[in-house]
Amino acid sequence: MDFEDTPEEAAFRAEARAWLDANAKLRNPDEPPMGMLEEEGGGGVKRAQQWQAKKADAGWACITWPKEYGGRAASSIQSVIWNQEEGRYRTPPSIFGIGQGMLGPTIMTHGTQEQKDRYIQPMLRGEEIWCQLFSEPAAGSDLAGLRTTAVKDGDDWVVNGQKIWTTGAQFCKWGMIVTRTDPHAVKHAGITYFIVDMESPGVEIRPIKQIAGASGFNEVFFTDCRIPDKNRVGAVNDGWRGAITTLMNERSSIGAGGGGAGVKDLLRLAKQCKRNGRPAIEDSSVRQQIADFYIRTKGLSYTGSRTLTAISKGTTPGPESSIGKLVGAPLRQQMAAFAMDLQGAAGSLVNQDAAEEGIWQLAWLGAPGMRLAGGTDEILRNIVSERVLGLPSEMRADKGVAFSDIPTGS
Ligand SMILES: Cc1cc2nc3c(=O)[nH]c(=O)nc-3n(C[C@H](O)[C@H](O)[C@H](O)COP(=O)(O)OP(=O)(O)OC[C@H]3O[C@@H](n4cnc5c(N)ncnc54)[C@H](O)[C@@H]3O)c2cc1C
Repeated sequence: MDFEDTPEEAAFRAEARAWLDANAKLRNPDEPPMGMLEEEGGGGVKRAQQWQAKKADAGWACITWPKEYGGRAASSIQSVIWNQEEGRYRTPPSIFGIGQGMLGPTIMTHGTQEQKDRYIQPMLRGEEIWCQLFSEPAAGSDLAGLRTTAVKDGDDWVVNGQKIWTTGAQFCKWGMIVTRTDPHAVKHAGITYFIVDMESPGVEIRPIKQIAGASGFNEVFFTDCRIPDKNRVGAVNDGWRGAITTLMNERSSIGAGGGGAGVKDLLRLAKQCKRNGRPAIEDSSVRQQIADFYIRTKGLSYTGSRTLTAISKGTTPGPESSIGKLVGAPLRQQMAAFAMDLQGAAGSLVNQDAAEEGIWQLAWLGAPGMRLAGGTDEILRNIVSERVLGLPSEMRADKGVAFSDIPTGS
């Protein structure tokens, strides 16, 4: 494990910092990162777009993209350094990650020249926002079980079905959708991938109100929605290949983690809250619990450093990087629950009424989502057991069976 920048990495960090110093304000380390976009379609989206355009003008947008697409062909470690540096400044949260991190690379790999010319630049500049229309009510972990259909009609495809958990669909101009085009093929083989205009007739977006109050994701219904064949990404019935490209990029763009309230914030809270009339920090069981969180947080951070060292040496992190989210997401949930306990009855308050503007309550309410997105805890355990520990793989009742012949309850 190596904690120091190489001379090249230090030079890159200095260059990034110089530009950020000149273009953004440093964030006080005790202040949480700027919040997510609560205002639907409002100022939050505009602010994020302005910041993205500024970065694009200076060559700091999508830095890992090849130069021909407007990136700077930066290495993975340079991307990590850039994210660390940008995170030190008061900048709007990015709402472009799904497009730039996952869908753009898919178009670059599988798209036609016409698609690359049309979509990549506005995506890089944040002018057009993209969403990922993969999950369905009965196809999440088992994505290849998707049932939304696309049927060829002249030069168009007619799409019917439902997607769910579509992050940001209400702000998006474009979506990338996987559909079933041959139900008689085995389930991974009859899938086709398209770019869909989210403003097309037959697309209905219904925001889902989440437990924490915001509507980060949506249900999206397709009723006889027409997609021109020129928006097909890859060959007919070969969409699984594109889907895998998107999902591989999802894994690497989720990777870094971090952010949110930490042990330092917990210590501050324990000094403010009272237990039996005394500051909670004076209670040895409180101190023990915080020490336990500290140890586990450090363990995670060193595991992350091992991954970063591997990236810095040019190696791609293996399936063991699944451990970061598997351990980190429940840890955040436990820390948030403990912080709410420390607050006593006031722990049930939210937003401005709650201590520290409700950061712990928000973290607790958001934690279950973190344990699902990008691979649920159980799926990550399957990955670790099969691909790290070499245990036998799961039974597959659908292997080699036509999708239409797979028994189903729906
Ligand atoms: C914050 C967030 C953002 C998201 N954004 C998007 C988005 O933009 N676009 C999109 O398409 N989707 C998105 N999703 C959906 C996400 O991809 C799915 O939630 C995820 O794949 C799990 O699918 P599911 O919710 O259908 O659960 P299911 O797959 O139905 O799982 C239900 C339960 O069964 C368990 N389970 C399933 N299969 C197995 C197995 N083989 N072995 C053991 N246990 C198993 C799961 O772990 C889980 O506990 C988002 C989800 C979240 C939480």
